[in-house]
Amino acid sequence: MAESLKPSTFLRGVHPSHNKELSERAAVSVMPAPKTVYIPVQQHLGRPAVPVVEKGAAVAPGTLIARADGALSSNVFSSVSGVVADIRELATPSGYCPHIVIDNDGAGEPRELPSLDDPSAEKIRDRLDECGVVGMGGAGFPTAMKLAAKEKIDAFIINGAECEPYITCDYRIMLDYTEQFVRGAQILARGAGLDNFVIAIEENKPDAIDRVGRYIRDNKLAAAVITLKTKYPQGAEKQLIYAVTGRRVPVGKLPASVGALVDNVHTALSAYLAVSKGQPLYRRVMTVSGRGIKNPSNIWVCNGTPYRDIIEFCGGESETPAVKMISGGPMMGFAVSDTGIAATKTSGSLLLLTDSEAFTGEPGPCINCAECAAACPMKLMPMYIDSYILAGDAKNAVKYGARNCIECGCCAFVCPAKRPLVQSIRLAKKKAQGGGK
Ligand code: SF4
Ligand code: SF4
Repeated sequence: MAESLKPSTFLRGVHPSHNKELSERAAVSVMPAPKTVYIPVQQHLGRPAVPVVEKGAAVAPGTLIARADGALSSNVFSSVSGVVADIRELATPSGYCPHIVIDNDGAGEPRELPSLDDPSAEKIRDRLDECGVVGMGGAGFPTAMKLAAKEKIDAFIINGAECEPYITCDYRIMLDYTEQFVRGAQILARGAGLDNFVIAIEENKPDAIDRVGRYIRDNKLAAAVITLKTKYPQGAEKQLIYAVTGRRVPVGKLPASVGALVDNVHTALSAYLAVSKGQPLYRRVMTVSGRGIKNPSNIWVCNGTPYRDIIEFCGGESETPAVKMISGGPMMGFAVSDTGIAATKTSGSLLLLTDSEAFTGEPGPCINCAECAAACPMKLMPMYIDSYILAGDAKNAVKYGARNCIECGCCAFVCPAKRPLVQSIRLAKKKAQGGGK
């Protein structure tokens, strides 16, 4: 695929304030491992992993502590050296699951696997599986399984859009770990049986476009940078595939059905670390931002680090008090109040938002303005889904396409009545799964 001159994009969507200036100049730094980590066994799409350690077991960074249970599940590793203190049910941003609690003694060396030189596609996928690599843009889909698609793939896209406001961890990886993540992208493409790939980046990151493009040209790689228009949700899989290839992924189908695969920038970096350095996935780069935090940062965080420790490491709360804490981005993330919740493989950001940044009032009634439908990139009518859910009619909510919703939050963003439309749609999906009326 040739490098594009005109920015590519998709239909509809919104233009929220980026707010990336808070953290985009903060180069990636390392947060030391906390005294205790609380590692959830559910950090991926499928079934929770099954603990393979008991209370009192000695572990090191990289020790397998919970084994994948089924094809969509994923291995979980200790992020510190020490002793398993407990296994207990604790809160996550979206519910509860068992957590393996480990007291850190800071003594043990990380456990690494031998690096793989010139591995076959199958060996790459086996290693990604073994190291627990999942999609780190938020979905948590096991990467090896995605690469093993049965369909013929001819478009491999690395998603460098990072279209959610505030979040800058992928942007910083593209600048601070250029070689490692591009090599990881090569590894992923090879794992899918391809020898070329594209890296798609929004045009509001010109220095990343320049640096990544230069690295590709200097090293004569079979790759290209595609410049995307800055628009939300440009990084959503279906919208990204349409922008880059012009192909539409049918409702209910995966990208492989149109010959495309998408992986995130951080997933590429983790693939490099797993295959070339033998490192299991037990830490990640996370953006900590919002006007409610003293020092907005991009930091390597050990899996299982509680949010309270992360907030403290970033200088604590700023003088303007935070009124909302969000796990993830402001458009797709979850509002949380428990600072004991722990960082996982898919925790791209933690935001502390002040009164000027977050709506905390009561929603008003729908005024039938249809702004939500005009913004929806999936061409849904969110106001109908919302009103059917309010009436307890999940069947009609599903009829209006609740299952096709990608939970991007564009509808709620534009709604003048501040209706909690995404929550309504999530509820409709849940009720539909449970056979709601
Ligand atoms: S209905 Fe779903 S897909 Fe459409 S704008 Fe709202 S959250 Fe996004
Ligand atoms: S944008 Fe809000 S007020 Fe307007 S139709 Fe949609 S739900 Fe109703």
